Amino acid sequence: MSNRTFTIVKPDSVANGNAGKIIARIEAEGFRILAGRMTRLSQAQARGFYAVHAERPFYNDLVAYMTSGPVWVMALERDNAVPHLRAVMGATNPAQAEPGTIRALYGESIERNAIHGSDSNENATIEIAFFFSSGELV
Ligand code: GDP
Repeated sequence: MSNRTFTIVKPDSVANGNAGKIIARIEAEGFRILAGRMTRLSQAQARGFYAVHAERPFYNDLVAYMTSGPVWVMALERDNAVPHLRAVMGATNPAQAEPGTIRALYGESIERNAIHGSDSNENATIEIAFFFSSGELV
């Protein structure tokens, strides 16, 4: 069944000139881009988006990183969207990511790891709604 996920092409990817390659890879993997835009997250957006990590020691660093420069936010659709994107992204730590995955190719560190992808269908729905109204999904 076709379903949806949400991605952020993170600030390190945009700063390093890798955003186009990552978006091309997402398309090559069969995702349809339902909505997307370049934006720079505010402190409030980053804190809210990562609220689940608020008690983690790296939370303030993560918020600083995610607000450090522009990102691409996108809503995506394909079969098994959430697990497929997670597989294409690779492990959180690029040093442990499978060769050929986006994080293995473009990630710099466990924090500056190139891309975000929703970890469940429920979170995909929440995260898409965080950035896009239903009328923006085309
Ligand atoms: P993900 O689902 O693979 O993105 O990983 P998590 O949900 O566990 O973490 C969210 C994001 O926080 C990661 O993508 C990293 O950017 C960052 N992060 C995770 N673990 C660490 C860590 O141990 N140290 C630092 N500095 N950042 C981390």
